[in-house]
Amino acid sequence: MQVKADLHVHTVYSNDSVITPKELVFYAKKQGLTAVAITDHNQVEGALKIAKETDFVIIPGIEISSMHGHIVGLNVGERIPRGLSVAETVDRIHEAGGVAVACHPFALLKGSVGKHISSKFDAVETINASAFPFNRATRKATQLAEQLKLPKVAGTDAHYGPVIGKAYTLIRSEESVDAIVKAIAKGLCEPYGNPIPLLTRIENQGRFLWKYFKRSH
Ligand SMILES: [Zn+2]
Ligand SMILES: [Zn+2]
Repeated sequence: MQVKADLHVHTVYSNDSVITPKELVFYAKKQGLTAVAITDHNQVEGALKIAKETDFVIIPGIEISSMHGHIVGLNVGERIPRGLSVAETVDRIHEAGGVAVACHPFALLKGSVGKHISSKFDAVETINASAFPFNRATRKATQLAEQLKLPKVAGTDAHYGPVIGKAYTLIRSEESVDAIVKAIAKGLCEPYGNPIPLLTRIENQGRFLWKYFKRSH
């Protein structure tokens, strides 16, 4: 069995995304995905709530701001504090029963772990559809994953519904969260996808700022 999953999506619970739970499931199905990982910044409440409310396979996750950059934990049901070292953050993810992904390790302007990555991680996000500059970030992340012999995954880092699924990971696994994350850790996965056009990203940023402005006034 094969799972098609976007492993990096932010929702309204992230405070920097406009994706509502309904939109998340709508666009995921529209793109032919069979699972989505919700990886809001430094919190898991939204992911856990949405996972309970839908039949769609939601992998609860978190994107943690470690001392040296962002780290995604998949299958993590508890908040892991921000500001810890990379090694400690990865340990906490493992203690929580999750897998640690070095997300967008070489993207500029994103808070990337870069050279702090190590084989303690379970996987490298070699394709991040929002990474800039995309080709360089993808090439460097792929080289590093190969050097460290780590599995490669992909996600969009979507903050806006219609881009969900533009990058995705094919995983040879049953459609359950436990099976999916185990298969990722074993490397039974392949990353696919394209960059989100820069113009779309700039438009989305404007959309977010407008919504934020309306909410706060
Ligand atoms: Zn990030
Ligand atoms: Zn992100």
